[in-house]
Amino acid sequence: MANILALVEHRQGTIRDITYELLTYGRKLAEKMDGKLTGVILGHNTGDFTESVKKHAHRVVVADHEVFKDFNAETYQHALADIIQKENPFLTLIGNTAFGIDLCPALATQLGVPFTTDCIGVEIADKKVRVTRQLYDGKMDAHVYLSEGPSYMLTLRSGTCAAEEGNLTADIQKIEASITSQPDYKKFVEYIEAAVGDVDITKADVLVGVGRGIKEQANMSMIEDFAKAIGGVVACSRPIVDANWLPKDRQVGSSGKTVKPKLYIAVGISGAFQHIAGMKNADTIIAINKDPNAPIFNEADYGIVEDLFKVVPALKNKIMEMKQ
Ligand SMILES: Cc1cc2nc3c(=O)[nH]c(=O)nc-3n(C[C@H](O)[C@H](O)[C@H](O)COP(=O)(O)OP(=O)(O)OC[C@H]3O[C@@H](n4cnc5c(N)ncnc54)[C@H](O)[C@@H]3O)c2cc1C
Repeated sequence: MANILALVEHRQGTIRDITYELLTYGRKLAEKMDGKLTGVILGHNTGDFTESVKKHAHRVVVADHEVFKDFNAETYQHALADIIQKENPFLTLIGNTAFGIDLCPALATQLGVPFTTDCIGVEIADKKVRVTRQLYDGKMDAHVYLSEGPSYMLTLRSGTCAAEEGNLTADIQKIEASITSQPDYKKFVEYIEAAVGDVDITKADVLVGVGRGIKEQANMSMIEDFAKAIGGVVACSRPIVDANWLPKDRQVGSSGKTVKPKLYIAVGISGAFQHIAGMKNADTIIAINKDPNAPIFNEADYGIVEDLFKVVPALKNKIMEMKQ
């Protein structure tokens, strides 16, 4: 029997989506090994969190204290180290997010536990842990065996599995916070929401995401016209922001915005995982790309393999025709 711990990540009073992916993945792994999944909540006024998490785990351990209201890798490391030492799980799962990357290496080092980050798959056989990680911008997968240890730890990339509805009723165990103040050398000061520009792409129902396939800034007006014709808003991949063709608040992806429009049309976007992370939950995804092997087609509900400079004007004209 091998038990698994999964850390519940929250921000601004809301559990983050990655948590439910971790809980789904962790529960399946634990059940395969006849073990139990324990969700760990470090937070303040955690009633609602506990209610949500208990459907997804066999047990929930909750440390409720003001010090955990906002994430601080130092307080989290202290509290989690304590919990892991007591619980002695086979594996601890943490989201591969800004929080998780800040926390996991220091925590694993403190505990002397083998760890790896940014995993997209985990297999456990004969008590050996083999993880899958991507190399060269997602072009290759590497299988990595963790060296043998008393326990293991890893961060799981968002999108590794789809979050499923939970139907469990976890046992809840409330514990005392083992740390009650932030260290002087690293304190949470305030949460600053990124400024929203003239357009908030997170609120749009229809987004036209434009990528490096657009080639030149002069061609951006074609995308603007198309977006206007279908009543949408233009978003983009990171190279477009790097080239200063659109402001940062239009960038979709792991270092940009997460969007959930009804329709996302990816134009000349290859589908790097950093981009996918931001748009994979769109209701319908259409991809236009001349490369039939572009990874974006793995996510798309509909794909058009063709030169975007032919497809976009043709679509726009058709829509204008239908409108008339
Ligand atoms: C730490 C980190 C964070 C990152 N965060 C983000 C992020 O938040 N968002 C993000 O998007 N990226 C992010 N990236 C960058 C990411 O790895 C990719 O480099 C980026 O998403 C690629 O953008 P793209 O698809 O527009 O360009 P490319 O990968 O160059 O793809 C261009 C695509 O256009 C197609 N194309 C070319 N010409 C045509 C044509 N005439 N007709 C049709 N198709 C055509 C090509 O076949 C190709 O698939 C991040 C990278 C790092 C390292």
